[in-house]
Amino acid sequence: LDNRNGVLWLDGEFVPWRDARLHVLTHGLHYGGSVFEGERVYEGRVFKLTEHTQRLHESAWELGYQIPFSLEELNEATLEVVHRQGISNGYVRPVAWRGSEHISVSSRGTSAHVAIAAWEWPHVFSVDAKTRGIRLCTSRWRRPSPESAPVRAKAASLYNICTLARDAADAAGFDDALLLDYRGYVAEATGANLFLVSGETLYTPTADCFLAGITRKAVLDLAGELGIQAIERHILPDELSGFDECFLTGTAYEIQPVRSIDESEYRVGKTTTAVMDAYSETVHSPYSQAT
Ligand code: PMP
Repeated sequence: LDNRNGVLWLDGEFVPWRDARLHVLTHGLHYGGSVFEGERVYEGRVFKLTEHTQRLHESAWELGYQIPFSLEELNEATLEVVHRQGISNGYVRPVAWRGSEHISVSSRGTSAHVAIAAWEWPHVFSVDAKTRGIRLCTSRWRRPSPESAPVRAKAASLYNICTLARDAADAAGFDDALLLDYRGYVAEATGANLFLVSGETLYTPTADCFLAGITRKAVLDLAGELGIQAIERHILPDELSGFDECFLTGTAYEIQPVRSIDESEYRVGKTTTAVMDAYSETVHSPYSQAT
């Protein structure tokens, strides 16, 4: 990914893609203090841009630092990156981190930095996966408690668990992993939130120790508009076999049907399809793009 033409935005300047380098003694590299976002571009427009930029600010805040650019400046930079890269359907990756002033667990005296890169990226999973659903396995890794980690932040440090879980799932022949939380409740996948369907009612785990995704919120809003009841509650793994449908939600995953979690099987049914169709309509509508 580092050897491309084009430009990206780094601390207020546009720099050639290949020149966007950091020093190896960057605090963020050693102590895992970086925070990031994943945003999606549809027909050149960034879906929920302000919500993502806001979350980037809040994630840094949760980790004790302030991003030295306002929401407006970052929004404008994002749109300019998308424009200069000529992206119609793609992905945007803003990232913020602490600089290389010193190496110490203390972050005192470190500067904050931000970069924004964007590239063409039509789909995470294949069209076949969209129609048939993906297969998940439950990970042995669990989401930590809010007393142990800054669980509301989209923080790189929390992605160690996700990468370990995802790599183990890949090695075992699954498409993704389901993580439980520290109490044993169903939490989320490695880069997406989880919804289950029983009859025509949606259920999603209470987001009290993992990322309450922007797509999750969009789906809850859409459910309201579609007259579909949606319930947020704690869900136990033993309950998983009792649901009819299941899907994941995330900026990159969009609405991704799930065919199975371990031995529990699901169909890509009426409710999942209705949510997929409504979400697709929303993201492609010029009126719903926060720019
Ligand atoms: N959980 C995790 C761990 C994620 O990485 C993501 C993707 N950002 C999500 C949930 C879904 O969040 P969003 O809908 O805001 O993309």
